[in-house]
Amino acid sequence: MPRTVHIIGGGLAGLAAAVGLAARSIATVVHEATDQAGGRCRSYDDAASGMRIDNGTHILLSGNTAALGFLSHIGAAARVTGSPKACFPFVDLVSKQRWTLDLGVGRLPLWVFDRRRRAPHTRARDYVALARLMWPTPDQPLGQIMSCSGPAYEQVMRPLLLAALNTDPTAASSHLARAVVRESIAQGGAACRPYLAPQGLSGAFVEPAIAYLKNHGGAFRFGHQLRRCVTAADAVTELDFGGDRIAVGPDDAVVLAVPSYAARSIIPQLQAPDEFRAIVNAHFRIAPPPGIGPMLGILNGTAEWIFFFADRISATISGADRFMQHTKDELAKMIWQDVQRVTRVPAEMPPWQVVRERRATFAATPAQNAKRPGVRTAWRNLSLAGDWTDTGLPATIESAVRSGTRAADFVMQS
Ligand SMILES: Cc1cc2nc3c(=O)[nH]c(=O)nc-3n(C[C@H](O)[C@H](O)[C@H](O)COP(=O)(O)OP(=O)(O)OC[C@H]3O[C@@H](n4cnc5c(N)ncnc54)[C@H](O)[C@@H]3O)c2cc1C
Repeated sequence: MPRTVHIIGGGLAGLAAAVGLAARSIATVVHEATDQAGGRCRSYDDAASGMRIDNGTHILLSGNTAALGFLSHIGAAARVTGSPKACFPFVDLVSKQRWTLDLGVGRLPLWVFDRRRRAPHTRARDYVALARLMWPTPDQPLGQIMSCSGPAYEQVMRPLLLAALNTDPTAASSHLARAVVRESIAQGGAACRPYLAPQGLSGAFVEPAIAYLKNHGGAFRFGHQLRRCVTAADAVTELDFGGDRIAVGPDDAVVLAVPSYAARSIIPQLQAPDEFRAIVNAHFRIAPPPGIGPMLGILNGTAEWIFFFADRISATISGADRFMQHTKDELAKMIWQDVQRVTRVPAEMPPWQVVRERRATFAATPAQNAKRPGVRTAWRNLSLAGDWTDTGLPATIESAVRSGTRAADFVMQS
């Protein structure tokens, strides 16, 4: 059994690894480069808008069993709110049509056979393309194994897959798309109920995890960026944080739970994803009109999803690299125009903030998917975690939590 496990990176993968170990009474120290935990899933006080905002609205589905299990384990299940039904309202800003994709509550995809529950101008047989996706094939761009056109693709598959993969679905890995479909739509509405964190990501995922770890004797070092691992033979012997060094004893272990680009700078020979996709989020300080929400899909707009919280309206654009040259001001105006059109809130733009995460996720292409390493490294006491490790899922909370739990299991077995 390890004596102390040093976890490098306080994102959800690192926190899940620490929780998995602390639950087995193992001493953990989380070393986080910044002054707050949460990584790409965090809240902060924003002076410009006068709000506490999330770096980006995060959505879980009821089929994300590892992420929801993690929340239960740290006593935070009530910090996320799940919709009772798997209903996704949409509006098309060109045709002005509104509809609700209603996946129901059961395990069977009966919605496909009900005109009122599927997308407009689609037939049951249009959804058969989904079945094609389920056939095992080598990992290829999705566009090479199914037709990526037509109303069922544009109105259902594209918005859902783009949100899950953060990559243009036609170029995305068919294996990752299959994993998403297998764990969501293929399980019926029961696995697709959306969950949001209305009080913020840190309050749901991060603060309860920190409290759990502190209650279990876990320690945290913030502003503690690992620069280098000193190795001898088959083990890491020292962690070099620049200003200070920490010896790794023969019975200690290290879990590296940093983003792939940071992992490659610490272990230069590591093969890992090196292409990324951006996500843009805009937050407007305005209460939504009554009776609206919690979320709305937008077709043919700038925004792709709009979320309605008690004190704000937020919007998300995935695969948003094409917007990285725009100023925040331009983006806020473009997105506000969409919000205004679909909600009829007053035209004047309220206080706002735009968050551009350039390296929000690794690009979910077959080439990048092939670069994902497993938990094991060349050093017996160094394991990997992170949404970019080989979990079989795209870069999501579910992937991060599974990777962290897997690293904890690996440490226990080593
Ligand atoms: C805008 C946005 C929206 C998203 N939306 C969703 C969504 O709706 N649903 C969903 O499931 N997922 C979503 N994701 C993805 C999700 O946030 C990530 O998959 C998850 O948070 C990754 O966790 P992680 O621990 O693997 O990595 P990270 O969160 O990146 O954590 C790594 C941590 O390591 C730290 N670090 C880096 N280098 C060092 C070092 N040398 N030493 C010490 N610490 C270091 C970093 O500061 C960071 O805290 C979204 C991501 C973004 C950016």
